Amino acid sequence: MFGPPGSGKGTHGKILGSIPGFYHCACGDVFRDLRADTELGKIFIEYSSRGKLVPDEPTIALWRKTIDASTHLGRFHPATDTLVLDGIPRNVRQAEILNDTLDVVAVFYLFSANKKNLVARLQRRALKDNRLDDANLDVIRQRLKTYEKDTRPVLNFYGKTLVHSINTDGAPVATFLKILEQVAKFG
Ligand code: ADP
Repeated sequence: MFGPPGSGKGTHGKILGSIPGFYHCACGDVFRDLRADTELGKIFIEYSSRGKLVPDEPTIALWRKTIDASTHLGRFHPATDTLVLDGIPRNVRQAEILNDTLDVVAVFYLFSANKKNLVARLQRRALKDNRLDDANLDVIRQRLKTYEKDTRPVLNFYGKTLVHSINTDGAPVATFLKILEQVAKFG
């Protein structure tokens, strides 16, 4: 799942991940599950509260640890399951680091023709999910800038054949249907 903050990566990733044979992993959730008094927990708060990305090395290390743990617990079966990634890779360097690890079958680029929709969604989410990084308009603007500068180039890294552009301006159910139609084609 790919797109700017507030594009619905988590919402649709979670639904897709609930289908047998799919496993959803949201990098932001992995970070938010860290205790705030751990070293990485503190680093996460330091960066995310400014709308910046956490440095690549600790991010990738934590992600690998989380996927390994899910595998050992029997929740994720790498040989047979499709992993629904959301929030990672979040820049070209992370995509390069993960290139040997991932066998990417599709990138769903969730886009909105109206930037105001994104900001409104983020502000709603701040209240609903207690997301401090969504509560401040300056942080939201910084997150959108970080997306444009660091994250968007990941689309070029994967290229046109893998990227499926999905307009998210309709109802969530209509967006999910578009994703599912593509997923069904992979068999
Ligand atoms: P959103 O849903 O708004 O895109 P996430 O929940 O995915 O936000 O991420 C929240 C914050 O966690 C990011 O702003 C960033 O600071 C940090 N983060 C999440 N994933 C990554 C990643 N792959 N690399 C670096 N930082 C990340």
